[in-house]
Amino acid sequence: MVKTKKKIVILGGGFAGVECAKKLESYFGNNSEIEIIMISEDNFLLFTPMLPQVASGMIETRHIVLPIRAICKKTKFYEGKIKNIDPFGKLVTLWGTVEKRGAVIYYDYLVIALGSETNFFGMADVEKNAFTMKTLNDAVMLRNRIIDMLEQTENETDPILRKSLLTFVIAGGGFAGIETAGEIMDLLLDARKYYSTIQKNDIRVIIIESLPMILNGFNQKLAEFAKEKMTHRGIEFKLKNVVTKFDGTEVSIKLLNENLKEPAVESEIEIIRTKTLIWTAGVTPVNTIKRSMFKMEKGKLIVNDFLEVPEFSGVFAIGDCALFTDPKTNRPFPPTGQIAEAQAKIVSYNLNALIKNSDKKIFEYNSKGQMAIIGKRTGIATFFGMNISGFLAWIIWRNVYLSKIALPDKKIRVLLDWIIDLLFDRDVSRLKLVKRDTEKEYKVLDEIDDVW
Ligand SMILES: Cc1cc2nc3c(=O)[nH]c(=O)nc-3n(C[C@H](O)[C@H](O)[C@H](O)COP(=O)(O)OP(=O)(O)OC[C@H]3O[C@@H](n4cnc5c(N)ncnc54)[C@H](O)[C@@H]3O)c2cc1C
Repeated sequence: MVKTKKKIVILGGGFAGVECAKKLESYFGNNSEIEIIMISEDNFLLFTPMLPQVASGMIETRHIVLPIRAICKKTKFYEGKIKNIDPFGKLVTLWGTVEKRGAVIYYDYLVIALGSETNFFGMADVEKNAFTMKTLNDAVMLRNRIIDMLEQTENETDPILRKSLLTFVIAGGGFAGIETAGEIMDLLLDARKYYSTIQKNDIRVIIIESLPMILNGFNQKLAEFAKEKMTHRGIEFKLKNVVTKFDGTEVSIKLLNENLKEPAVESEIEIIRTKTLIWTAGVTPVNTIKRSMFKMEKGKLIVNDFLEVPEFSGVFAIGDCALFTDPKTNRPFPPTGQIAEAQAKIVSYNLNALIKNSDKKIFEYNSKGQMAIIGKRTGIATFFGMNISGFLAWIIWRNVYLSKIALPDKKIRVLLDWIIDLLFDRDVSRLKLVKRDTEKEYKVLDEIDDVW
C-alpha cells in the first residue's frame, strides 16, 4: 500500500512564509513522509526594505525580488491566489481564471502567512487616486510618476500648475513613509539637473503624520535627528494631521486636537494642491483572512503563545496577519519583517515538535535593533543597544540588509546598483508600462503585411 505523505501547507511567500519553508526544509527536506507546499500569488519574495530605493531608481526593479523556487528548493510551489481556507475540511481553494485553473489543496498542517495590504481606512477617493508603496508594481509606478511630473513641469508655464506638479505628499510618517520621502527627495534633486526650468525651491515633499512625532516606536532622539536632517533637506512635516480627502488634484488635511482626535470645526482643514499623494499610512490583513472562519481582532488572526490558532490544532498564523501581544508592552507587535521571520522560526520548530510528539516552544521576541535610512547617505539605527545616526548608520543599514538578501546573484546586483549610483547620474527614462491594446496591434500588423 502506498503511504500518503503528510502535507504542511504554507500560505504566502513573504518574509514569514519563506523563512518558515526554509526552516521546515532543514527539518524535513530529506523526509519522504512529509511534503512541504507553499502557495503564493507571486513566485518571488519581495525584499520590502529596499522598495523605496526601487521607487527612486537607485536599485533596478528585479534586483529586490528573489524567486521562491531558487530559495526553497525542496518546497512544492503553487503560484495562485487563495480564495478560501476551510479549516474543518482542511482544504485551501485557489481562484481560477480564464488563463489559470483553480485548485483545491488538502493539508494536514497549515501555516497562514498572508501578510497585509494597504489600509485606506474606508476613504474610497484616496484608494482610487493615491499611489501606494507596498508592492513592486507600486514602486515602479511611483518612479514613473515622479519622472512624469518632472517632464510635465519642464514644459508647463502656468505657475500654479507647475507648483502642484512638483508637490509630493506622503501620508504616514512611519518607516515606509519616511524612507520613501527621503528617497523621493534624492531622486528629485538628482534628476533636476536634466530639467533646466526646475529650481530646488520649486520642489515640495510633505509628510503628513497623525501622531505628534514621526517614526513611532523608534528611539525618540533618533526620530528627532531624522526629522531635523530631513527638514534641512527641504522635506516638510505636518504632524498631528490626517488626510481626509484626495481627488487627484487636492489633498485635504485636518489638524487634530490635543487628544489626537478630529476637531469638529472645518476651519482646521488645509488644502494642499498636488497631483501625487503617496499613501503609506497603514496596513490591514488581506481579505482572504477577513473572510475566513478564524477568530480575529481588527482583521488579524488571534494566536496563542505557540502561534497556533487556538480552535484548530496544527494551524498556525505568523507575520503581519497574526495578532500577537507583546507581554512587555501589552500591545500587539508591529508589522515588521524581523518579527515575521522570528515567528516563522518558532512555528517551524513547533511543527517539527507536533509531528515528532515533543514539546512546543513559546514565542518570545527580543528585537535585534531598528534601522531606517532617511536620504542623502544618512541613517538612524539602534544596534545592540547603541544609538547611531548619520553616515555610519547608513553604512550599517546597507551592510545589514545586503547580508539579508538570500541569493548571491541578487546581492551582487544590488551592490552594483549602489556603486553605479555613486558614480553616475540617475536614469530619468520613464517606462510606460501598460498592456498594449491587442486590437490596435493586429491592425498595425495587417497594414505592415499589406506593404510587404
Ligand atoms: C516600503 C516598506 C518598507 C519596509 N521596511 C521594513 C524594514 O526595513 N524592516 C522590517 O522589518 N520590515 C519592513 N517592512 C515591513 C515588512 O515588509 C512586513 O512586515 C513583512 O513583509 C511581513 O511579512 P509577511 O510574510 O507577514 O507578509 P508579506 O511579506 O506581505 O507576505 C505575504 C505574502 O502573501 C501573499 N498573499 C497575500 N494574499 C494572498 C492570496 N490571497 N493568495 C495568495 N497569496 C497571497 C503575498 O503575495 C505575499 O507574498 C517594510 C514594508 C514596506 C511596505
